[in-house]
Amino acid sequence: MTPDEAIEQLHGMAANEYPDDVAAVAVVRAEIEQLQADLATARETNRRLNRRFQEQESQARHYERATNILRDVGHVAQSHHQRITHWLDRLADHVREEERKMRREHELSAALHARLDLSQRLVTAHAEIESLRSELDSRPVGRGVCVWRYDFGIYDTACGECFELTNEDSLSQQPAMRWCPFCGSLIREGAVKV
Ligand SMILES: [Zn+2]
Repeated sequence: MTPDEAIEQLHGMAANEYPDDVAAVAVVRAEIEQLQADLATARETNRRLNRRFQEQESQARHYERATNILRDVGHVAQSHHQRITHWLDRLADHVREEERKMRREHELSAALHARLDLSQRLVTAHAEIESLRSELDSRPVGRGVCVWRYDFGIYDTACGECFELTNEDSLSQQPAMRWCPFCGSLIREGAVKV
């Protein structure tokens, strides 16, 4: 006889001799099985809850990390924004300074140009003055008076030239004709030649 067969035999004897106790044991055993089933269910539920809790904890950690990253990115962006703003301000200052310089240089250039122009005009005027002076110098001056004598439609001048009045008959009808164009002296009309 095996140990299992021996136990089976003992069970049979007990059921015959103590039927109430065996029934009570069966009830208790059934209750124990029910409790074990409930316990298994509770453990399963606990495992599920644990898994969900871990998942939520993991999500919370992810969220926290993401929040930290966003905060860091925000700080970096703010820092960059401040740097860029500062840089743009300096650039604007630089541009303004360059504009001021260019305006000043332009004004200086314009003034220089005006001075060069004036200088050129002065040189031209000086050359004209020199030309007039040399022309005046070439004229025989100093006699003071040049006597013009009428001689058959032509005036003979005291400085040795001849002059023909085309429109008028006499010098007295030409008041603008006061200076001898040959010697520069004051014209005085002399007696008519005979
Ligand atoms: Zn003359």
